[in-house]
Formats: sequence, C-alpha cells, structure tokens
Amino acid sequence: MKNLYRSLLMAFTLGFAASCSVEDVEPNQPLSHTSTDSATATQDSHLTMGNPSGANTSYSNYLLSKPQYAMSYNSYRGTPNWVSWHLSSAWVGSAPRQDDFRADTSLPSAFYRVQSTDYTGSGFDRGHNCPSADRTLTTTDNSATFLMSNIIPQAGPNNQQTWANLENYCRTLISAGNELYIIMGSYGKGGTGSNGYAETLAAGKITVPNRIWKVIVVLPNGSGDASRVTSSTRVIAVNTPNTTSISSTWGTYRTTVDAIEAATGYDLLSNVSASVQSTIEARVDSGPTQ
Ligand code: MN
Ligand code: MN
Repeated sequence: MKNLYRSLLMAFTLGFAASCSVEDVEPNQPLSHTSTDSATATQDSHLTMGNPSGANTSYSNYLLSKPQYAMSYNSYRGTPNWVSWHLSSAWVGSAPRQDDFRADTSLPSAFYRVQSTDYTGSGFDRGHNCPSADRTLTTTDNSATFLMSNIIPQAGPNNQQTWANLENYCRTLISAGNELYIIMGSYGKGGTGSNGYAETLAAGKITVPNRIWKVIVVLPNGSGDASRVTSSTRVIAVNTPNTTSISSTWGTYRTTVDAIEAATGYDLLSNVSASVQSTIEARVDSGPTQ
C-alpha cells in the first residue's frame, strides 16, 4: 500500500514536471500533440522483425549483415533471396547517389562474386533491393546499396515505375513520423526484360527471378518495435511479376504476407507474437498508395 502510494505520487510529480517543461520550452506549440510528433527517429536493427529464412552459413541461404541492411544471399542464384532493412528519417540525409556498382568482396571467396558488368546488354536493370534513396545519411551508406549482392535482374518498368513509386511512397511515410521495416525478396526463374524472356544472365551465374515481392511494417517512431506490432498495425505486402508489361500502380499487386510465406517457405515477421502474425499476415492492405 505504501509502495503504491509512493508510485502514484511519483507518477503525479513526474507528469506535472513533464507538462511544465513542455510549456516552458515550447510556449507556442499546440498543447495536444500525438506521440509520433515527439518520438525521435533512430537507426534500428535490420532483423528486428526476424530472419525470414533462418539464414546462416549455407551457400543457398547465407546471412550477410551490414550496417546498412541484412540479407540472405544465394550463391547459386547470384542474388539475394531477401534483403531486410530499417527505414526511418534517421537514415536519410543529403548524400548524393554514388552509382558505384561493384562486386561484393565480403562474400566468401568460394562464391561467384557478381560483377557490375554482368548485367550489361541483358535487357534487365541492376535493380536495388535496399534502394539508394533509403540510404543517404553518408556516402558510405549510399555506396553500400550499390554492392552487386544487393542487386537483382529487374525488368525496367518494374524497377523504374512500379517499384520506384512504392519506394517513394515508403519515404513519404517516414516523413510523416513513421519508421518502417522493409523486407524485399525474389523467387522463381525467368523474367521478361527489354530483350525478351530470359532465365539466366552471365552464362548461368545469375538467375532472373520470376516474382519480386516486398513486405513493409509501418510503425509510428518509437522503441521496442517488434512488441509494438499489434493486430491493427499497417502491413503492406506486394508481389509483382518481373516483366515489362506491368502496371505502374503498385497497389494493384497487393497481397497477404501469408501468400508470400506460402510461395517462399519463409516465416516473415517471426519476432512478432504468433497471434498478431496470424491477423496481420492474412490481411490485404487497403490504405493509401500515394
Ligand atoms: Mn530500383
Ligand atoms: Mn510470419
């Protein structure tokens, strides 16, 4: 009883002190504001929501963790299986696009290291998983997105229209006070680029994916992120064909996380409680798309 009284007194005192300090420091601010305004954006772990494929040291499921993103790399495909990254306004600054596509020498020497020229003349873009424009705080961060381990053969209109629109939309969400966990991946074999259908590039060392997907978890800026995901958290899941004949409207390709899990065999958002996963992974997003 005594402890309860002390706790109440302390809560009252702290609350009073906090409201006083807001008035003192920001006399011209509106008195009512949401927590999204006040929480500071931070840089958080890229695997906060989980490791979808249990990536480890396997050649087909190799965990590659960088300061800028984490991935499962598949040396047999010459592409990532998936790339996962945290996005908040804390990752964005004014570093210019580096455009320094290059082999990733951090891959084991037994792997074929895809070269920047391996896509030349293929009819496919060097499509980023973690986009250049999501990593502009430093030139080092931006440059890391041009490692060929972060790249897939992506049909031009898919990359430059559908995907670019979705990437831009994600950055409008962080400008509005949110932080995002984004997982992008690809699977299957065979896509249609500007030179027509192809299954591989570079004499078979690179597989052209058939489908390209993304899952985005949207949270107001804050901490303890995996446990803040609830049944009402917005989760956007998109799965697109890797072809030139694709709509530029990414909302057309919305699906469920469950469908992507069924197609890939992964467990996405595995650090979220099972009961919350079962709700949010079965829902198709119907929110705004721009
Ligand atoms: Mn792109
Ligand atoms: Mn899941």
